[in-house]
Amino acid sequence: MNINEFNSYQIAQLDYWKEISTPYSIDTLKRVYPYHKFLDLDVKDCNIVAFLSHDIDFSPERHLFVKANFTDRAKEHIGIYSLDDIQKIIDLEKEYGLKSTIFSPVFNSKFTRFTSNLSKILDSRFELGLHASPRCSSDAERLIYEKKLIEKNTGRDVDSCRIHRLEYHYQKTIDSLKKAGFLYDSTFGYNNTIGFRGGISHIFMPYKKNVIEIPLTIMDMTLWKYLRLSPTNSLKLIQELINRATQNGGIITLNWHSDYASYDEFFTVFRKTIEFLIRKDARFITINQIKEFLG
Ligand SMILES: [Zn+2]
Repeated sequence: MNINEFNSYQIAQLDYWKEISTPYSIDTLKRVYPYHKFLDLDVKDCNIVAFLSHDIDFSPERHLFVKANFTDRAKEHIGIYSLDDIQKIIDLEKEYGLKSTIFSPVFNSKFTRFTSNLSKILDSRFELGLHASPRCSSDAERLIYEKKLIEKNTGRDVDSCRIHRLEYHYQKTIDSLKKAGFLYDSTFGYNNTIGFRGGISHIFMPYKKNVIEIPLTIMDMTLWKYLRLSPTNSLKLIQELINRATQNGGIITLNWHSDYASYDEFFTVFRKTIEFLIRKDARFITINQIKEFLG
């Protein structure tokens, strides 16, 4: 990676990034975090495991436009938001024989039609999780409400969660997730940079609470919104991170927002990241397959 291609702000971020871009080995993790249970996926024939996921966010601009231009009845009829971006992601992943988890919000009953339609375009290969609102990180009652609502709207059991803005407050969030009955969560990660929060690149169960945490490693909007990187430099940073991760194994979790699927240059970064992982012999894994590992 040529450091001269980055401006001074980005270099300052990158210096920080270097500290958190190489994960601990699983043996070190067990010593550093003795109260967590780390899951050692049996991946002898590959260097890295990859988990693909997508959060559905709604930009304030789009939300305001819809709010100003459509009546409640019309919003309900059109499902409020388009599913085209999700379909684009699904089509790309099918091209490579891959599958992913889509985390959808369900703020209130107006999302009934949207989540119902979303469920219809996700065939059995794709998994549906809840993209919970931020207050759920410390409000178990709210999290229970959103879980019940998305399950009612879709007719599916939803047992995985990622909280919007990656709000994760160790004990409080884990307690909320457990009370709401979630088995899996993938909120634990940085949103202002990419890398391994706490040096953790392995799936773990915090404090024996029976909620499996799949740490989040790379979020798309971090690259261009917070680090302000070009698509070319974003890809370089991702590749550098994947190279470092392969040294100690574990899982790379990608979060590519559906909102960005319509921007071709950013969507190309997603495609090229998938191709890079394939060249690195990554094994792509879904939450259902993690269930199989757990027996
Ligand atoms: Zn979000």
